[in-house]
Amino acid sequence: MPIPPNPALDPEELLAVAIAEAELGKREGGIPIGAALFAADGTLLGRGRNRRVQHGDPSVHGETDAFRAAGRQRDYRSTIMVTTLSPCWYCSGLVRQFNIGAIVVGESVTFTGGHEWLRENGVDVTVLRDQHCIDLMAEFIESRPALWHEDIGVAE
Ligand SMILES: [Zn+2]
Repeated sequence: MPIPPNPALDPEELLAVAIAEAELGKREGGIPIGAALFAADGTLLGRGRNRRVQHGDPSVHGETDAFRAAGRQRDYRSTIMVTTLSPCWYCSGLVRQFNIGAIVVGESVTFTGGHEWLRENGVDVTVLRDQHCIDLMAEFIESRPALWHEDIGVAE
């Protein structure tokens, strides 16, 4: 069973780290999705961003990048994955595989991934409607639709 998240943590404060990563990705010409993995006490374990474009690597999503940056953790049940956008199936699978106990989602307006499935499977899910996250994705999808479709595996 997941460990209940720490009520003292402010989801928007955690989200700010993921947004900074998304902004960095945008400046690099990449897909503006960022993520961060936190310990239950709010300690930052790892942060990252989608780097499909920067690394020419479709497996580097925001969540996987943050997960790898966090290195080896003995137990993920008390950790919190924070991401600017609803997690795709690949990243939702990562959360399930490693039993990450909680996720915070910046927005699910521009894209809805697997967060409801995670909730059904006992993950503590917080979905925000952060305007900064929505604007980042809306602008990106509008300006680079082909790249976005490539990232989510949708045929043109
Ligand atoms: Zn993903």
